[in-house]
Amino acid sequence: MTPDPAPPAPGDAPRASAFPEYRRDPVTGRWAVVAPARALRPLVPHPAPADPEPPADCPFCPGNEHDTPGELFADRDPGTRANGPGWRLRVVPNRYPAVEPDAPAVGRHEVVIACPEHVTRAAELPRGAYRGLFRAYRERIRAHAADPRLGYTLAFKNVGAAAGASLAHAHAQLVATPFVPPVVAEELTRSEEHHARTGRCVFCELIATEASGPRRICETAGVLAVTAFAPRFAYEVWVLPKAHAARFETTADADVGELAGVVRRVVQAQDAVLGPVAFNWVLHTAPLRSAELPHYHWHLEILPRTATPAGLEWGGGCFVTTVAPEEAAGQLRGHV
Ligand SMILES: [Zn+2]
Ligand SMILES: [Zn+2]
Ligand SMILES: [Zn+2]
Repeated sequence: MTPDPAPPAPGDAPRASAFPEYRRDPVTGRWAVVAPARALRPLVPHPAPADPEPPADCPFCPGNEHDTPGELFADRDPGTRANGPGWRLRVVPNRYPAVEPDAPAVGRHEVVIACPEHVTRAAELPRGAYRGLFRAYRERIRAHAADPRLGYTLAFKNVGAAAGASLAHAHAQLVATPFVPPVVAEELTRSEEHHARTGRCVFCELIATEASGPRRICETAGVLAVTAFAPRFAYEVWVLPKAHAARFETTADADVGELAGVVRRVVQAQDAVLGPVAFNWVLHTAPLRSAELPHYHWHLEILPRTATPAGLEWGGGCFVTTVAPEEAAGQLRGHV
């Protein structure tokens, strides 16, 4: 990575360790280099400052429902009509889809409009919007599972231009494809090998060790948030259900609520530490219609764009970060 050196802030002390450390992700086997000496602070690209007034032509604001394709799912006030105002959340097909239902390359590309208010910072989204968003993910994954042509639904969220978001109004996305995306396929293969070798789920093992370790950020009765041991980006966070479950779409309402609360706290803590940083989150779950796999464990990865991936990252799949995950967790813990 090529983080620009930022001027040290008053009170910044040099890092204790000047030596880069090689780390291997226990799930994917991906290599990472933690090199705190490369910079005192990570580069944090901020999204463009948000317009305080919602633009009149925002297609995701109430009153402009005609500017999106017809809704597939919505949380609506009783008595309101589809594709009119009166909603708290809508799911619509993406107007510029990467994949389409009836194209030769079959797929679904959907947008979850998380709330009617023109909120642009994920940290400012109300708790109910987080809960609604994850419930919408669950409902759409269940709907996609009914189409035998589809093999996988990747649910994600892009925030900020640096992370690929083109519209400011808070939203998330789902892309369903006939194939399992390679990153998930790799997790499935390696976790299955781990299970065959040890009889255990690698994620359950990770939860058992991380819950009392230096990378723990926060938890509830059922959900744990930790910084990644071998991160791709500084302040990368994984959120996992403590009980083994391979398929996100089997999650009960109460557990979706817990997940939403933890994710919101983490996003707010990242925002407090890093400023309004661009980020992606991605939900990794088992393929559509798969059995309740003993080796796979759904989770959410939150990836703040604290640096710009370059040759070593894109070409080699090896990521360099400049803040140790243990230190990042300590900072985040101060804000959850
Ligand atoms: Zn809007
Ligand atoms: Zn597990
Ligand atoms: Zn994953």
